[in-house]
Amino acid sequence: LTYLPEADPAVADALRQELARERGSVELIASENFTSPAVLEAVGSVLTNKYAEGYPRKRYYGGCEKVDIVEDLARDRACALFGAGFANVQPHCGANANFGAYTALLELGDTVLGMSLDQGGHLTHGSPVNFSGRYYNFASYGVDPETETINYDEVERIAKEVRPKLIVGGASAYPRIIDFERMAAIAKEVDAYFMVDMAHIAGLVATGAHPSPVPHADVTTSTSHKTLRGPRGGFILSNDEDIAKKIDKAVFPGAQGGPLMHVIAGKAVAFGEAAQPAYKEYIDHVVENARTLGAGMMDGGLRLVSGGTDNHLCLVDLTAADVTGKDAEKLLESVGLTVNKNSIPNETRSPFVTSGIRVGSAAATTRGFTADDFYEVGQLIARTVFNANDESTLADVRKQVETLLAAHPLYPELNY
Ligand code: PLP
Repeated sequence: LTYLPEADPAVADALRQELARERGSVELIASENFTSPAVLEAVGSVLTNKYAEGYPRKRYYGGCEKVDIVEDLARDRACALFGAGFANVQPHCGANANFGAYTALLELGDTVLGMSLDQGGHLTHGSPVNFSGRYYNFASYGVDPETETINYDEVERIAKEVRPKLIVGGASAYPRIIDFERMAAIAKEVDAYFMVDMAHIAGLVATGAHPSPVPHADVTTSTSHKTLRGPRGGFILSNDEDIAKKIDKAVFPGAQGGPLMHVIAGKAVAFGEAAQPAYKEYIDHVVENARTLGAGMMDGGLRLVSGGTDNHLCLVDLTAADVTGKDAEKLLESVGLTVNKNSIPNETRSPFVTSGIRVGSAAATTRGFTADDFYEVGQLIARTVFNANDESTLADVRKQVETLLAAHPLYPELNY
């Protein structure tokens, strides 16, 4: 074997460029994070070589004793971290986890109630361009036009009207606490299953910074790479033995072939890290930092959807700055602030343009940004979008961003 720079200079160079990019901007995309070097090591390990179709001690290949250790560690740690009786850690990503959960609980064409994409839900919660919207009959709920928060009475009204077989809770762009207990009661009332996709808030759930869906939901799905800070991947939890068996079948052989054992090792490492006191401290900072980030933007003249945040992200209405989400994303990138455009409630523009951005605190908190730093970043975002055509202001913002970045080096031990 040769190492990458000699074996494949082109790929090595792209990796080097990506590391430089990650180091050289403030990562505010709410679904991203920086894994620990230990997670990186597990994902880049020899476990990528091993086929292990099946589950521990019930494999379709020989030589699986060592990867069984890894998958057992990941499953046991996921169960302990989230207080679940069952975990499937094989889904390759969050969308696959949702595919597995739907396959376990539903027949094609069944009615499901989920949060619509333009109101904060995820593609897999019923978007017509996604398998979920194509294979199932999705009805949707959104946020109240006044409060911009979920109106549970309205969810109940829609549930009684459409009589879904499954209600899906959880979101991709919702800055407030979600009342899973109330949603479970609604599901029970209409005799529906209740599933929560906690992908965004999994890290907050792990430490108690957001109420856990696990005691209330029949199935909880998640990604491992957002606030949870593990490798890119998905997992599924349940406390119901019958559902658990169906989930295992739905994931393999239902939806996937061989599990990515190197990624499962990374998940095991991340679940272990998330059980440590330092991780709870980290998540406490994530929540506080989202709040000061929001305060900085509001003090700079921007409006936050729902008026603030309870979790790791803010949804920002750019109307006051008279700039679209698409243009703001580009503009902010030019000064070293990485965000994504996002629809806001009552959106008037297309999803490719939008009137908002979504910003999150998980990644830059990992980097060591403090509450004061986040307040400054919030102010810099506002200054940027209100001065889109003022080159000297933008140059000044870029300088301040560089000072912040230099104070918080990323992956100082990595050298490629
Ligand atoms: N569920 C939610 C709530 C998400 O926000 C996302 C990703 O953004 C997913 C599922 C899908 O995860 P993945 O991109 O790993 O398929």
